[in-house]
Amino acid sequence: MNSNKTFFEAQQWAFSFIEKQGLESSAADMLLYGEMGFSTTEFLMHLRQPMPQKNWEHFQNNVKLYCQGWPAQYLLGSAYFYGLKLTVTQATLIPRPETEELVDWVISGNENTSKKVADIGTGTGAIGLALKSELSTWNVTLTDISKEALKVAHRNASDLNLNVTLRQGDLLEPLNDGPYDIIISNPPYISQDEKKNMDCSVLLHEPQSALFAAENGLAFYRQIAEQIPQYIHANSKLYLEIGYTQGKSVVGLFKRAFPQAEVTLKRDITAHDRMVRVIFK
Ligand code: SAM
Ligand code: GLN
Repeated sequence: MNSNKTFFEAQQWAFSFIEKQGLESSAADMLLYGEMGFSTTEFLMHLRQPMPQKNWEHFQNNVKLYCQGWPAQYLLGSAYFYGLKLTVTQATLIPRPETEELVDWVISGNENTSKKVADIGTGTGAIGLALKSELSTWNVTLTDISKEALKVAHRNASDLNLNVTLRQGDLLEPLNDGPYDIIISNPPYISQDEKKNMDCSVLLHEPQSALFAAENGLAFYRQIAEQIPQYIHANSKLYLEIGYTQGKSVVGLFKRAFPQAEVTLKRDITAHDRMVRVIFK
């Protein structure tokens, strides 16, 4: 059964509903296209057609939930990362655009030979699956301590037909089939003190176990530095996403632990310190 709203009218309704709440109205398109599985072109082709009643009701409900602080990606159950459509649930962090820059950095320095690679704390599988989709000869392992997150990563790997290994466990522990050439991680790195500055939609809906870390947000970097020698070889590389205030601390931590290593800090496109690479020697 059709509603009495065309897709155009539904879009206009959502724009004004969201704007009235003082929120970013571009979410209207994301929720509408996601509701129907439309590309932009498909949406334009359907503009003057009536929206099915069921979708109209579901869409209105999602727009209202979005205005109450629900991230649009959880409402749709999916998010885009590095051109891949990934399933997301509340067991997984919604992959962030800055993490795509970490993937770029890994790819740009290492395209040529096949590599044994691990993505630690994979969540939806975003980093590891993006790498496997770009560099099909790589042998990629995805790990997470959360069984629920790993189920989502497994589903994404099979939906995208990407052949990767999945392992559950604490930090580097699952990598007992090493040594690994490249280890990548976007671990939890937010300090509890930062809670007061955080967006409610992140705090209320995203998994705390994906966000917060002890020791001013540095605990996972310290543990990785301690554990990593047994999982790597002489020229292995480690790539980490970091919080924008953590550059100095993380670089210092790895320089102290590995005085011979080459440790590089990199900014994201908004000019914030965002990534660290360690080339072991
Ligand atoms: N890699 C994904 C991304 O970039 O979108 C998710 C990153 S999220 C910030 C951190 C992930 O690390 C979460 O999925 C969380 O479950 C996982 N995690 C937390 N503690 C862990 C631990 N001790 N060992 C392995 N994974 C852990
Ligand atoms: N960048 C994410 C945020 O700001 C946090 C990711 C993380 O802790 N690794 O919410």
